[in-house]
Amino acid sequence: MRTNRTFTMLKPDSVKQGNIGAILEKINASGFKIVAIKLTQLSKSDAENFYSTHKDLPFFEKLIEFIASGPIVTAILEKENAVEDFRLLIGSTNPGDAVEGTIRKMFASSMTQNAVHGSDSDENAAIESAFHFSKREIFE
Ligand code: ATP
Ligand code: MG
Repeated sequence: MRTNRTFTMLKPDSVKQGNIGAILEKINASGFKIVAIKLTQLSKSDAENFYSTHKDLPFFEKLIEFIASGPIVTAILEKENAVEDFRLLIGSTNPGDAVEGTIRKMFASSMTQNAVHGSDSDENAAIESAFHFSKREIFE
């Protein structure tokens, strides 16, 4: 995958609370172009695979329960310096620490229910995008 792309999920809390439109608007307004998008739901085993690097951490089970608990929106976003700029846009993992104006500050309610995921490297962006999308679902 090209290195000017990142992968995001609008987590179950965002979908349940009706925040899909507002979050996508913020993403667009921040200069990211959506090149792939879908509404889907992960099984627990899908979620365990997606977050497998976290499997030995104490919060893993809670994270998996939550991510698999309802529909999510997955998307691939394009922008120069996409991975780093998107992490800045979403804000700290703990919304209590998130900077004003970030997506987590605006829409997240707790460390678990923190509204969005953003890839943490170009390599993981490529892995996560391939996990969720086939080639013909990704557009220029
Ligand atoms: P994400 O990968 O979802 O974008 P992140 O990169 O900010 O989040 P990670 O360290 O990758 O944070 O953790 C993945 C998810 O696990 C976090 O979004 C959060 O919901 C949960 N998490 C991380 N650290 C903790 C913690 N100390 N206690 C509880 N939950 C945590
Ligand atoms: Mg992460």
